[in-house]
Amino acid sequence: MFDLLIKDGYMIDGSGQSRVRSDIGIIGEKIAFIGDSTDKDSKAIINANGLIVSPGFIDAHTHHDGILLNDPQHASSLRQGVTTEILGQDGLSYAPLSSENYEIQRKYLGGILGMPPENLDMSSIRAFRSHYHKKVSINTAYRVSHGALRMESVGFFDKPLRSKELDHAKNLLEEGLDQGSVGLATGMSYHPNAWSDTDELIELCKVVKEKDGVYITHLRDINPERGFGGGGVPEALEIGKRSGVRVHFSHTRTSAENAGQVSKV
Ligand SMILES: [Zn+2]
Repeated sequence: MFDLLIKDGYMIDGSGQSRVRSDIGIIGEKIAFIGDSTDKDSKAIINANGLIVSPGFIDAHTHHDGILLNDPQHASSLRQGVTTEILGQDGLSYAPLSSENYEIQRKYLGGILGMPPENLDMSSIRAFRSHYHKKVSINTAYRVSHGALRMESVGFFDKPLRSKELDHAKNLLEEGLDQGSVGLATGMSYHPNAWSDTDELIELCKVVKEKDGVYITHLRDINPERGFGGGGVPEALEIGKRSGVRVHFSHTRTSAENAGQVSKV
């Protein structure tokens, strides 16, 4: 006896196999049966009637950090089949931040992330995650925000992190990774991230490498002279080579300078 039987759906299992018309029997929270359920009983039945049945999708790049806290049902993603989102993208997010810096970033990032409630504790990755875990309809994962690390170590100022300020940022990053963050994210179209240089990012990424996280980066188009090879892909590759970190390059774009060269880019 199943708790739930999903009948007659087109099953796509994520393995790369073609879809298969099949029934799925569930007991508790686990799939217990896949096949023809003609002689099986179930407490509840959903007739999928030829619709797609698949695992939930993971959206690897969203900017819903703020809006999720105001609209935890989050129908805009859920109704597309998205059940997990990776937050903290482009180094634009809220943790780790003191209450003063959270108040600044909350407003500063309002145009891209939405406006979350005031007075939330964002002082650690653990605190950040607690606002989402089992409180919003989807699962979330978080990459430590490069912008937050800079705010906490040097403030909203134009200088690359060095010595004590860099050490402080590295300690915060390590703590965040220990508290369940899955890596570090930056985006160098945006301040304060764009005030960094390649050496700063390599030092931070050594910490990420040590904790087996992933470094995710949006191209550098502000202060390109501070980036190895003028920023962009060459800088990302250099950071990967010299720190050993795994790199995910999240944004690039065409411009007047490279029009018509998309394949090369
Ligand atoms: Zn983005």
